[in-house]
Formats: sequence, structure tokens, C-alpha cells
Amino acid sequence: MVIELVKTNQDPSLNGKKTLRDTDSLKNQIKEAAKKRNAIILAHIYQRLEVQDIADHVGDSLALSRFAAKTDADVIIFCGVHFMAETAKLLNPKKTVLLPDLQSGCPMADMISKDDLNDFKQENNNAPVVCYINSSAAVKAESDVCCTSTNAVEVVKSFSADELIFVPDKGLGVWVQEQIPNKKLHIYDGFCPTHYQITPKDVFIMREKYPEAVVIAHPECDPEVWRLADFVGSTSQIYKFVDKYEKNQFIILSEQGLVARMQRDMAHKTIVTTFPLPLCPNMKYHKLENVLSSITENKNVIEIDSRYFDRAAATIHKMFEITESGINNKNLWEGPKRAT
Ligand code: SF4
Repeated sequence: MVIELVKTNQDPSLNGKKTLRDTDSLKNQIKEAAKKRNAIILAHIYQRLEVQDIADHVGDSLALSRFAAKTDADVIIFCGVHFMAETAKLLNPKKTVLLPDLQSGCPMADMISKDDLNDFKQENNNAPVVCYINSSAAVKAESDVCCTSTNAVEVVKSFSADELIFVPDKGLGVWVQEQIPNKKLHIYDGFCPTHYQITPKDVFIMREKYPEAVVIAHPECDPEVWRLADFVGSTSQIYKFVDKYEKNQFIILSEQGLVARMQRDMAHKTIVTTFPLPLCPNMKYHKLENVLSSITENKNVIEIDSRYFDRAAATIHKMFEITESGINNKNLWEGPKRAT
């Protein structure tokens, strides 16, 4: 089977209806509106490129949590999914956090509720709980600490207990378990529908087409898929690996937005992904129009149930305390270095 080079740097938001002048005008209006409100715009690297372009900071969950924790802005416009905006609010109780489009949820985070977690704890000896940051505030409140894909191994290792519960992502959970075989992880059955869309067959097809390429996978992929990769890493680790590695061909087993960003930032390299494109539709709801209206109309303010607030915030602060990923660690990823 012959597959054409999968180029994903076509921004799906530029659908032909909007001219470059419209886009520039919207970007200028957003900048002015953000300045007036002393607002900061944070964008996940899976966002549309035009949204990444108007952000003050672009990054993955860990980088964005750190920017959210350190900002002096009065308002945070979070261009990511709901749990990320919640994390920003938990780290900034007094600030206004806005999510430009409230439809932007994470199906993986929605796979576990607080009650599901409590049942899972009972089934598994009430072991300490590490929850992936891709979880609701209610689930974080019932957990001992949270983690990101960058620091999950470090967080789990920090526990003296031999047995832990890991929720909700089984792809990342199995990855962590393989790095730390001396501990027993009880792994919840959640998964990322976007990363699970990639199959071993897709990887074989791409390897045949690009036999020299380095295959890189996000641990949210099915373990059968990341086991086929040459390198497994979080979003920031993938970006840094591709940027630094001397080879010039890469097959990326992760979300299209990351691939599009790397294709633009590292245009001298061949960076492809599988087909059909692994695209998270939830990440693409934010557009320049709703970013602007959220700032000017103070739309979609993120609030957190007071029953969960303090305990959920504590799990995030604990992550920063027990890992080398402390908020002020200068070695941590600051987002794409050629951010525009
Ligand atoms: S890519 Fe997966 S984990 Fe990330 S927001 Fe989309 S569904 Fe959730």
C-alpha cells in the first residue's frame, strides 16, 4: 500500500473562509483586549497553529501548569481542555480563568469519576493513588498526588509503598509499570481515544515507507504501539528529542498539533505521523473568534466545587514538591523555542 507523505502543517482552522487579513486583525484585537485586562494566554501544543501564535506561552500540561502557577496576570485564558483550565484555577484561586470554548473536554479524564475512583480503591487495598493530571478536580481531590507524562515515573518512584493505584490512563500506567517493575501498579482502564487510534499496522506501514526514520511514541498510545517505537516520551520530551537528534526523519505517534508545530519549527527535517491523522477534536474547539469573545465578554469562567478545591490543589502542589519538576526548576521545558 502506498501512502503519501503525511503533511499536517495545514492548520485545520484555516478553512478558506477566513482571509489572512481577517486573521491578522483578530490577532491584533486579541492582543489589545488581553493587554487591557492584564490577561495571559496559555495554549497547549495540540491547539490550532493560529491559536498557538497568539499565546504568551505554548507547552504541554506540565509547562502550562508552571506558567499558570507563576503568572502575575489577573486573567488566564486557557486554550487547552477543561482539566487544564481547572488546574490553572487550582493553582490560582484568586485569578479569573477562562476557557474559550466549554465543549473542550478530555474524554480520557471523563472516563473516571470520583465514585469510580473510590470503588477502584476498595478493590485494590486502598493503596495510595497517583492520578494523571488528565483528571477532574473531583478525582484529584480523592488522590494522593498527581503527575504528568513527563514526571510520572519520578512521582511513582517517590512512594515508599510497594503497591499503588494509577488512574486513569492505562497506556501511561503500563509504561510507568515497565520502568518500575519492583512496584505493583493497579492501573485503571482509561485511555486516550486519539492516541489509541494509532494501530501497530499503521506503524508498520510508515516504517516501510520511511525505513530510516526514528519512531517516537507518546506513552498515551496503546502499549502494543509504543513497544514498536525507538523512543517513548511525553510531549516536551518528543519535541526536544526531535529538535536535538542528528537524524532527519521521524515518525511521530502522537497528536497532529504537536506534529504540525514541529513541522513548522523544524522545516529542514522530515516529520510525519500515521494516517488517518491522530487528531484530538476536543483540542480544536478554540478559535481566534472565541478566544477574543472570552476575553472581551468574560465568557466561560472556570469555577471549582468548593468541596474539592483544597484537596485537589494539594495533589498538584505535592507533585511540584516531590519531583524535580518544581515550579522554579530552570531545566524544565519552556515550550517551543521558536514560538511566534
Ligand atoms: S489528546 Fe487524548 S488525553 Fe489529550 S485531551 Fe485529547 S482525548 Fe484527552
